[in-house]
Amino acid sequence: MSTQEFDVVVVGGSLAGCTAATLLGRKGLKVALIEHHVQDDNYKHLCTHFIQASAVPVLQRLGVDRLIEEAGGVRNSIEIHTPYGWVGHHLGVDQDGRPLHGYNIRRSRLDPIMRDTASATQGVTMMSGWSTKSLVEQGGRIAGIRLASGDRQITLRSRLVVAADGRNSPLATLAGVKAKSAPNRRFAIFAPMRHVDLRRGSASQMWLTGSEAAYIFPNDDDVTVVAWISPKENLDACRGRALEALIEHLRGLPDAPQLQNAELVDQVLTVKEYPNLWRPPVVRGMALVGDSAMSIDYLWGTGCGWALQSAELLSDNIDAVVKQDIGLDVALRRYQRQHMRMFAGHRFLINDFANRLSLNAIEKLMFSAAVKDVRMARHMARFVARIDGPMKFLSPAALLQAIWTNLRQPVANPDGTRSCDAPLI
Ligand SMILES: Cc1cc2nc3c(=O)[nH]c(=O)nc-3n(C[C@H](O)[C@H](O)[C@H](O)COP(=O)(O)OP(=O)(O)OC[C@H]3O[C@@H](n4cnc5c(N)ncnc54)[C@H](O)[C@@H]3O)c2cc1C
Repeated sequence: MSTQEFDVVVVGGSLAGCTAATLLGRKGLKVALIEHHVQDDNYKHLCTHFIQASAVPVLQRLGVDRLIEEAGGVRNSIEIHTPYGWVGHHLGVDQDGRPLHGYNIRRSRLDPIMRDTASATQGVTMMSGWSTKSLVEQGGRIAGIRLASGDRQITLRSRLVVAADGRNSPLATLAGVKAKSAPNRRFAIFAPMRHVDLRRGSASQMWLTGSEAAYIFPNDDDVTVVAWISPKENLDACRGRALEALIEHLRGLPDAPQLQNAELVDQVLTVKEYPNLWRPPVVRGMALVGDSAMSIDYLWGTGCGWALQSAELLSDNIDAVVKQDIGLDVALRRYQRQHMRMFAGHRFLINDFANRLSLNAIEKLMFSAAVKDVRMARHMARFVARIDGPMKFLSPAALLQAIWTNLRQPVANPDGTRSCDAPLI
């Protein structure tokens, strides 16, 4: 079996892996990017393609935002229908005065763009069609991997191995790490359709009750992803008639999209079980990014953005190893701390909602205030887009502002108008 040496070996050629490989390659490191699918146009099917605004700076840094737009990706924002009325999209503007937004682009387009970007990066060797067989361990650290492709085998040795191999992370399993988990009481049905006639402009829309959510996400090539997330108790009634059940549900929503002329363009997918899973971001010198570190409820559309952002976080910490001559372990400890700081609060709230079928008192307070007051709507939009974290969203000042808004205007729509249903940007 032959052996090759790299600075970094990244396993998983999807959003997290391609981001890590591209950024590390640009720092002058010699990187192997391993993907077990042979075809370069392979993509993740289980996704509704909503990339939050929090991840756009990473896409811009990669230079992928331009390619997404050339491929027809849609700049997104979301309007949310709550039990109190509509909250318009109020993300505001960035430091340079440009409107904040995320992207909707189908993974069939995005994943190959990400892979092409990584492969074209100097220093990155893309190895498609190889699967991980075992880990190389040295002095208690993970110091490489053994790969196989058909009857070929190879060993890659490196100072750093990165697991970007998704929710089931075969690397974490090889390292003996068991994911922590928390229940998710809902299932989902989603379908990509053309000719969906939207009733409220072209922004993405979400209908959120305590127990259920529904979405429409306009994507590239005039394809709209239509989705419904519902308590598992309703699953039996949808068996064998997923599309019909989805359409029936959407028809009953306020300002429902018109689906008479809608045409299905790909499979209808049903996700029956999706417990929240997470693992330590660093294991014996191996770093975990994206879903391999944390894969939680898709209801909030955060996994793609967080895959990009966690990979960026890791690569910036590794940069310090090169530039500031700090030890690799110091950099990995920093990554672990920052990962916890960035995501643990979101995970706590998302896990809690996944195991509950009604809105709690704080959610009711914040939603009802966001329907009535533009500042509160903007505050909520920044949290939902994951630009702000839970500490800021639920700060004492924000809670007081929400209480004050509700005291000033106890009823959401006294005269049939809503202060926050018109988009600001
Ligand atoms: C129903 C559903 C809807 C979703 N909708 C959204 C949404 O709208 N917005 C959002 O932000 N997120 C969404 N997500 C989550 C999102 O899809 C994931 O968070 C995201 O794909 C994670 O990216 P990743 O790169 O970490 O992992 P993945 O995209 O899963 O990639 C892992 C890669 O590793 C490769 N791999 C695995 N094992 C090996 C191995 N042994 N050797 C080599 N390669 C290997 C795989 O082939 C794959 O390319 C959704 C998820 C689901 C289930």
